[in-house]
Formats: sequence, C-alpha cells, structure tokens
Amino acid sequence: MNVAQRFSHIPSPAIRAMVERSQQLEKSGIRVAHLEIGRPDFDTPEVIKAATKAALDRGEVHYGPNAGLPELRKAVAHYMSERRDVTWESDQVLITNGAIEALYLSLMTVLEPDDEVLIPEPCWTAYLGIVRLMNAVPRLVPLQANNGFDLDLVALRQAITPRTKALLLNTPHNPTGVILERPSLEGIAELAQEHDLLIVCDEIYDQICFDGQTPPTIAALPGMQERVALVCGFSKTYSMTGWRIGYVALPHPLVRPALLAHANIMSSVNTFIQYGALAALTGGGPAAALMSAEYQKRRDEAVRLLQCMPDVFLTPGGGSFFLFPRFLKFRDDQQLAQRLLEEAHVATVPGSAFGPTGAGHLRLSVSCDLQSILEGLERMHQWLTARN
Ligand code: PLP
Repeated sequence: MNVAQRFSHIPSPAIRAMVERSQQLEKSGIRVAHLEIGRPDFDTPEVIKAATKAALDRGEVHYGPNAGLPELRKAVAHYMSERRDVTWESDQVLITNGAIEALYLSLMTVLEPDDEVLIPEPCWTAYLGIVRLMNAVPRLVPLQANNGFDLDLVALRQAITPRTKALLLNTPHNPTGVILERPSLEGIAELAQEHDLLIVCDEIYDQICFDGQTPPTIAALPGMQERVALVCGFSKTYSMTGWRIGYVALPHPLVRPALLAHANIMSSVNTFIQYGALAALTGGGPAAALMSAEYQKRRDEAVRLLQCMPDVFLTPGGGSFFLFPRFLKFRDDQQLAQRLLEEAHVATVPGSAFGPTGAGHLRLSVSCDLQSILEGLERMHQWLTARN
C-alpha cells in the first residue's frame, strides 16, 4: 500500500523518545526529574468535574450541535471579549477537540495545496504537521535568542511570497515563553493587512502569565479582528489536557467553512464534557489562579537556578510553562539532552526539536512539581560544573 506523500514531511514528536527512555530508567529504579513534559501536574478542579458528572447523570450523552453548545459558545465569547478587550459574538465561536483542532480548522479555511504559512521558529512541533497535512508548506522565520526571541519584522517580510496565505502566531510562546508585545504585534498587523494574510493566533497559554501581565492580543488592534482566528482552550489553564476541548473565534466569513470542516471530521465535541468546560469558565477562575500562582513560584525558582549555571544563557519569557536556555558550550543539543538524561537523570527536550534555531537550547517545563524542578536543576548544575 502506498502511503500518501504528505506523511514523509511530518516529524515524529521528539519528546516521545525522551519520555520512553525516562520510563526505562525509572523501571530500573532511577529517579528522573521530568522537566520535559508540557502538561499541568494538577488534577482538574473539582467544580469542573462535578458539573461534568452532573451532566452525565442528567443524560447529556447524545450528539450536540456541531458548533458546540450554545451556552458554552456564549460563555466563550463573553470570556474572550472581556479578557481581550474585543467583542466577539457567540456565533463566531466554535467548540473544538482541543486547540489543536481549532488550529486545523482555521488554517483549512484559507489554504489551497502548495500555499505557504509563515511560522516563527522555534515553534510547537505540531504546527509543521498541521500545515503539511493540508498539503501546504510551512515557511519558517527564525526567532533569535539575542533578540529576546521577538519576531524580526524584516525577516518576516522577506519570507512572504505570492503563495503566503497565513501566519501562525503563538503568544505566550512554546517553547520560549515569550509574550509578543504591542509594538511587534502592530508591525505584524501592518504586514498582514498589506499582504492580505490570515493570522491564526494560538493563545493557549493566555492565563499562564507571570508578574501580573495580561498578554496583548493582535485581534484587538484596529482592523485586525476580521483577519484573526483566535485559538484557545481549556487544556492548560484548567489542567484539562485529557478532556480534549478547545475553541476558536473566527472572522464572520470563515465561520461556515470552519464549521463544515469540523462537522465532517468530528461531528461535534463530546456533549457532557462541554458542560464541564462551561463550569470552568463560570466557576473555575479561582482554581486557575491558584495553579497560575504555583507556576510563577516554580518558574521564578527555575530562572534563579539557571542563571547561576556556568555558560547558560537564558531569556526568560513572561508566560507559558517553558524556559528555553542556551548552553553555550554544547552546540549539539540532542546529545546534551541525552547525556543529561543518562548521566544526571534530568529529562528535557532538545531545542532543535522545535526548529533549527533551537539548536544549542533545551526546553525545560515548570509544569511538574517544585521538588522535581529543584532536584533536577541542582543535578544539572553539578553535571555542567563537572564538565566546565
Ligand atoms: N498550542 C500550543 C502552543 C501547545 O503547546 C499545545 C500543547 O502542548 C497546544 C496548542 C494543544 O492544546 P490542546 O490540548 O487544547 O489541543
């Protein structure tokens, strides 16, 4: 059987190799510090679980509307409008199987085969697969550590071709943690307007921000709401990664095509889980704030410890779970990650897994408990010192 050509361009997630090897080490009794995994270590807040169980008990087990429950779409529109200072109507919101499906749907509305999508890199690895599955082409635009991983507007402009249809933004960012600030967003908006691009903006870490920041959104800039698909979800904020629920707010003309794609691929999102998501938006705020405060504590500790390590250069971002230090004496980050795992028992993800500009970096996540972070970074420090 001939497998379709598109799959030859899709990388396997690098994190899997790390997780599998860590598990082998743990089976042999070794304690591994898991700084590789980007998912919250908390349980889903009780208020969300209770609403979901109640929905199940009420018999909310049938197909729901393709676009999502009206009350949930309304709550999402309200939440997004309040938090981002732009008004969305509930009929612009689609409930999806995680933010990842929302990314697919948004891009699918505008891409023809061989069209190009600008992707700042390093980036979440799934972006490349998403674009390739549509027979479109990712065009990578490097984010440089010495520029604070800010988007270089000159490089962005140079990457635009007549086939460029969309730009995939992510703020706060995986893997660097960087929040795009208003001046950068304004430059990006100008380019998008000039070249008639759709901006798909992944704001899945919108509530995991440090030092009281609320990240600005490109959708709130003048004239931009009509060319931004704003993607978000419940996975990270409410520790609901396994529930598989997210959403997107779309410009009016893109709602129908996105809904057609969703209806034909997914039909609808699990009905009783949508009631849990509704409870997250209406009553999950305090629990989300507690988790966020805990990430801040862990991240501050991790930043402090990394800044004491020899030959480590860190640009700490203002959000997400991730830190993306560069190890100045180790260009080969794959080998560095492997050695840290085998010799210091610290699991990380090699930076080059997120794109070529990630070479020499490691991604560390603070979504595991503080004790593991402290132990892991102490072992990393000792390991680096012994090789200095
Ligand atoms: N977007 C980014 C940048 C991510 O890092 C992740 C998960 O790691 C997702 C989206 C996936 O979100 P969801 O679980 O809602 O599909």
